[in-house]
Amino acid sequence: MKTDIKSMTLTELTEFVVSLGEKSFRAKQLYQWMHQKLAVSFDQMSNLPASFRKKLEENAHLTALKQADVRISQIDGTRKYLFALHDGHVIESVLMKYKFGNSVCISSQVGCRMGCKFCASTLDGLARNLTAGEMLDQIYRIQQDLGERVSHVVIMGSGEPFDNYDSVLRFLDLISDENGLNIGQRNLTVSTCGLVPQIRDFARRKPQVTLALSLHAPNDEVRKTLMPIANAYRLTDVLAACREYSEITGRRMTFEYSLVAGVNDNEKEARELGNLLRNFPCHVNLIPVNPIKERQFTRSDRTNIEKFKISLEKYGINVTIRREMGRDIDGACGQLRKSYIDRLNEKE
Ligand code: SAH
Repeated sequence: MKTDIKSMTLTELTEFVVSLGEKSFRAKQLYQWMHQKLAVSFDQMSNLPASFRKKLEENAHLTALKQADVRISQIDGTRKYLFALHDGHVIESVLMKYKFGNSVCISSQVGCRMGCKFCASTLDGLARNLTAGEMLDQIYRIQQDLGERVSHVVIMGSGEPFDNYDSVLRFLDLISDENGLNIGQRNLTVSTCGLVPQIRDFARRKPQVTLALSLHAPNDEVRKTLMPIANAYRLTDVLAACREYSEITGRRMTFEYSLVAGVNDNEKEARELGNLLRNFPCHVNLIPVNPIKERQFTRSDRTNIEKFKISLEKYGINVTIRREMGRDIDGACGQLRKSYIDRLNEKE
């Protein structure tokens, strides 16, 4: 098996390079080729001796995602990418252009096993975890395709990042490394459905990274109808872990709340949520649910969403309604990938 060098820290890469009988300074050159110059082949690495490049060809695997499809919004420049991995799996990543910079939403797994009822990414279960290198390369390929610097990253694409915890931690180290793209930790966001042990550990390890929690309900009863993970962790424990996060980090976290008509969008839920989160240093992001054809859920109408927001604000909570990006290339998270796979299956 070839060594996955794109997932290695500079220290690990140095050991690897020395084990191939090369001088240690070569590791930094190789690292910069991968993580700053965004090379996709050893041939491009012109300042490395041919003999070293040959050894790399034989012993190292250089992750390089292939762009399988891209859709560009004519409205706001949002781009949805479909990338093929070396083993034939495909994943989705999204670029969003904001005033503050270019933000990329990456996948952390191929598929997902969390089973949230409204989510397209989990319909076929989990295929496998992504490596740190595969997470990085989504950003590298997009930055190159765009020809502009990516300044923000959100791990909110397919997959549950805390179900692939070690690789996500490694990814966060590498993307913020000064010898790589050097994206500040404060410009990185991880979104989780609420794996309590990992939230608690994360607060200690990555206190500068923003945490987003997929809440979607103000109590366990409603939450269980939408998210199977609610059977494993009670809301009180999830929120206690979130409090710990905000105490340790001193940072405001985000709660995501996807509004599903008639399920979690009534005045009763708004009040319950208001009571739950009052005095919590947070920000609530309301997401009109993106209906998927495999499920019956419909989105709340605009007036209801506004009403929900106003009710929450009465509790002194900071609320935003997620602005829809790329409406003309619409499709919920994971749907580009799903339709691609469905088309392949039809052909077979
Ligand atoms: N596993 C992580 C990342 C998932 S995607 C998590 O659960 O947070 C990011 C957000 O989009 C999550 O809050 C998720 O619940 C939400 N989401 C997924 N599918 C959606 C849909 N069809 N409509 C609205 N929100 C959705």
